[in-house]
Order: sequence, then C-alpha cells, then structure tokens
Amino acid sequence: MELPELTILGRQMRKEIVGKRVYEVGIANPKCLNMTFEQFRKTVVGKTIKSVESRGKWLFIKLNSHQLLFNPGMGADVIHFESNDKLPEKYQIKFDLEDGTGFTIRVWWFCYLHLMPEKKLGEHKLTAKLGITPLDKRFTLDYFKQLLSQKRGNIKSFLLDQKNIAGIGNVYVQDILFNAKLHPKRKIPSITDTEIGVLHKSIKSVLNESIELGGLAYEKDFYGNKGGYGKAQYKIAYKPGKPCPACQTTIQKIKTGSTSSFICPTCQTLDK
Ligand SMILES: [Zn+2]
Repeated sequence: MELPELTILGRQMRKEIVGKRVYEVGIANPKCLNMTFEQFRKTVVGKTIKSVESRGKWLFIKLNSHQLLFNPGMGADVIHFESNDKLPEKYQIKFDLEDGTGFTIRVWWFCYLHLMPEKKLGEHKLTAKLGITPLDKRFTLDYFKQLLSQKRGNIKSFLLDQKNIAGIGNVYVQDILFNAKLHPKRKIPSITDTEIGVLHKSIKSVLNESIELGGLAYEKDFYGNKGGYGKAQYKIAYKPGKPCPACQTTIQKIKTGSTSSFICPTCQTLDK
C-alpha cells in the first residue's frame, strides 16, 4: 500500500467511523503494538474517533487525546463491517464501534499499530520525521527543487525515503522515473532543472491517476473493493521482457540496492 491506497482508505474511513465510540478491540498479533495489549485496550476502549488522516503510508486516527498510528507494512485489508455483515474469514485485528459497525484488519506480513498521546506525537520516531506528501499543497516545484538541492545520492533512494517525501513505494516509483526519463541510479546533482520539472509533474500524475482509479488492483479499499490501477496502467513497472511504450526497447529488470527496478535502457540512460 502506498499513498493512493492510504488516501482512499483514509477518506472512506473518515466517512464511516468518525464520531463513533470504540466499544471493543481484539488483536491477535500484539507485536504490532508499541505497548501491551491490556494497556492498549484500556486506552482505546470508550474513546471517540475524532478524525482519520492519511500521511504517506500512515493513517493517523485521532481518539480524544491520543493518536492511533497505523502503517500496513507490505499491505493489509482494512475492511468495514455493518452489524449484520459476515466478517472476512481471516483477520488479526478487530475494532467494534458502539453502533454495531466496525472494521477488521488482515495484515499480509507485519504492521504497526502504535498508540501515542497527542502531546507526545513528536516522540514517535517512525512518523515524527515524515516528509510532506506529494498531494500536499506545499509540495510545489520550488519546494521539490529546494529538497533535491541538498542531496547527493541517487534519485530512486531519495524518492523512496519517507523522510523526503511521504507515500511513494516501489510500485509507483517505477513509472514515476520512467515518465521523467530518469535512471533509478541517476545521481541527484546531475539532474537538470527541466528534468526536475518533469519528475515533479510525473509524481503527481501517477499518484493522482491511481487515486482516480481506486488504487492498486490487488489492494482492497474499506468496502472490500479492489482498485482499478493494474498492469494495463503500468508503463514499464513489472513488465520485464515487454516493449517500452515509448521506443519499443525491451524493458529490463535490474537490482538497485535492496530493491528491484524496471527500466527502459534506451529512455532511461545513466551516462548523462
Ligand atoms: Zn524506451
């Protein structure tokens, strides 16, 4: 789950759960908590959900004087239920709200579900240094240029580092770089102003297109519906061996540090 999926989930959760009180909570994988389950339960039960905001790959669920911080890790199905609905077969986390509705969470691999007093939010190491998201009004071209001017590493690592920009992961970054004709290993100081302009636009257009289509095709939204952004929308992402949509060169899969990258070796050259 990256920014589009969390943005959509945040919107839908806002509509369904804000203003409701937590009646009960069940958690089968207490390792995702930053405290014992008993402490967590004692703090959460009886609290009213005041707001739900998404920021990058995190959801901030405000409960009176606390913030519940959720990060789905590799992915999670966060599914809403009404009082008579059949629950999903598998889930590890369940929130019951006092009106009989609620939501379950099935975590694919690991997740974070951290509770912080509002006043101590700045002490939460994983979110305190999050950058602004590309959909934030403050994410202007000037802001982006300024951010890049202080960096020397490669562009892909920069885009994936949540402290720089919050919300881009290894799925969307592929076409974001392809649109800007940038090789993932391109060193930031060598990138021209024109290229930065195209990259800035590409970040917004790729993420916004996915939001319009309901997010990634293999992820579910709050109502259990899958998104519409899949292989048909990908340009070079996860298409090794296929022709580049711009120049027909065969798309390659390469290693870039700990992540895989998909590139068109003609459109995204390194020797600039
Ligand atoms: Zn190409």
